[in-house]
Amino acid sequence: MALETMERPLDSVIDLQQALNELEQANERLHGIPDGMRELHDEHSARKQEIEALGASVEEAAGERRQAEAETQDAQEKLKTYQEQISAVRNQREYGALLQEMDTIKDTIKTLEEQALAALERQEEAQDSLEELKEGFRELDERYKAELEKWEAEKPSVAEQVEALEGRIAVLRERIPPSSLSLFERVLERHGGQALAEVRPVERVGRGQQIWSCGTCNYRVRPQAVVEISNSGSIVFCDSCKRILYIADPAG
Ligand SMILES: [Zn+2]
Repeated sequence: MALETMERPLDSVIDLQQALNELEQANERLHGIPDGMRELHDEHSARKQEIEALGASVEEAAGERRQAEAETQDAQEKLKTYQEQISAVRNQREYGALLQEMDTIKDTIKTLEEQALAALERQEEAQDSLEELKEGFRELDERYKAELEKWEAEKPSVAEQVEALEGRIAVLRERIPPSSLSLFERVLERHGGQALAEVRPVERVGRGQQIWSCGTCNYRVRPQAVVEISNSGSIVFCDSCKRILYIADPAG
């Protein structure tokens, strides 16, 4: 068995690529959101964001109300000071000016009180909507948490799968001659984790010789290369894209 794989390094390379693909999928499952939960997850996130946004609106309105209330208080203090000054006026002109100031500040107080009231109304309205939204979210949140728990319970078996695949990958790496392995890894890196390209027969025209091409880049594959791959399991690169060529069905 060992001798055979030594003679056919391509077989181990194919196995290694397969194991690497499976490892990637298992890691995605382990660290990502499972497909079955995707919709629920998206809905949950969207509702949560809505609640947070509404909560921010409540806070904003409350802040505006407090600001208006504080300014009202300041204006009332000012009005009180003016009222105290009335007894100290010395003539009709001063009296008129003071009354003018008092009218202005009274208008300001009125405006500020209206602002505070409007902010309070906005705050209460947002608060009511928030309560409603939270009420509706409860059921979704519970369903989400239950699914999450179920998923957490499944994780250990996926983690085991990852571990097993990592072990298998280590064994396969040992089996491939170091020079071939480093070539494979270079191609793997260059082509985003997929180092292999299938050799495909090109449709025969007339009764000419069978022609082959790279299934990824379509470049012609030399007949000699096809023989080497199918007979000896040699590692042969596509002349154009430099991926490692393999034949899916050596009999065909
Ligand atoms: Zn190619």
